[in-house]
Amino acid sequence: MHIIDGKKIAQEIKDECRAAVARLAVRGISPCLAVVIVGDDAASHIYVKNKKKVCEYVGIGSLSHELPADTSEEALLALIDTLNKDETVTGILVQLPLPAHIDEGKIIEAVCPAKDVDCFHPENVGKLSLGRPGFLPGTPAGVIELLKRSQIEMAGKECVIIGRSNIVGKPMAQLMLRENATVTLTHTKTVDLALVCRRADILIVAAGRPRMVTAEYVKPGAIVIDVGIHRDAAGKICGDVDFAAVAPFCTAISPVPGGVGPMTIAMLMKNCVRDSGH
Ligand code: NAP
Repeated sequence: MHIIDGKKIAQEIKDECRAAVARLAVRGISPCLAVVIVGDDAASHIYVKNKKKVCEYVGIGSLSHELPADTSEEALLALIDTLNKDETVTGILVQLPLPAHIDEGKIIEAVCPAKDVDCFHPENVGKLSLGRPGFLPGTPAGVIELLKRSQIEMAGKECVIIGRSNIVGKPMAQLMLRENATVTLTHTKTVDLALVCRRADILIVAAGRPRMVTAEYVKPGAIVIDVGIHRDAAGKICGDVDFAAVAPFCTAISPVPGGVGPMTIAMLMKNCVRDSGH
């Protein structure tokens, strides 16, 4: 059984981005990511701090706009408009979730699609589903890189995904289709989920339920990728998969922490570099 090392693979990607930034600098191109955060959600502030740190490592400029929780939707839209027009800003990321009085959909659609490094804008989601080139959504693209760089073949394989969210499950299905896997998307209305999951050569879990996936969900020899991230009652970080129970049956498995988690920021950096002429 192979434990997929997401930390190592994410580091490789960050180093590739760093080299790409150096090549862009020679051509006088300097990518710059503007991060916008509204309110004082502690987890969001940690994510933003990490993103800034990785930008610094990779050599991408970063600007942060930290706005109070009572910022109006109009004020946020005005800031996005300014960033859209600012030619020195090549990527814009609005940290979610936003306070309840702000319409997230409206904000996502206000970001210029050419600067939408999170790949949330409907235009970029449409391109993804049409198989056209463009930004790739960080977490699902990170899963594809984990599989590719672990020499795991996807073409022709049965892939079952638990979860159909717009940020993980659905784009994950699109990307696995691009790799020619046979894809099944499952959710809370799926009948006999464990039986469906046992068909999978590759099982990708993004349910948001701590340690939900036990051995009965896994075909012996399967590959299991755990997207979930939680802190359990004992304060320990865990995923959607019961790692200790499932790992002995797998050919390969991604752990939590140290699996998919580090890949999301690495893939964000790839998007920041990609749209800057790389
Ligand atoms: P989400 O929006 O809550 O979606 C969860 C999905 O799982 C829904 O489609 C839901 O089905 C399905 N689901 C929930 N319980 C289920 C069950 N018992 N059986 C079958 N399906 C079930 O979550 P998300 O944003 O996709 O995130 C999923 C997990 O990934 C979370 O733990 C999140 O923290 C983590 N995550 C990690 C990263 C990272 O960087 N590593 C990034 C994003 C998310 P319905 O549609 O029927 O409700």
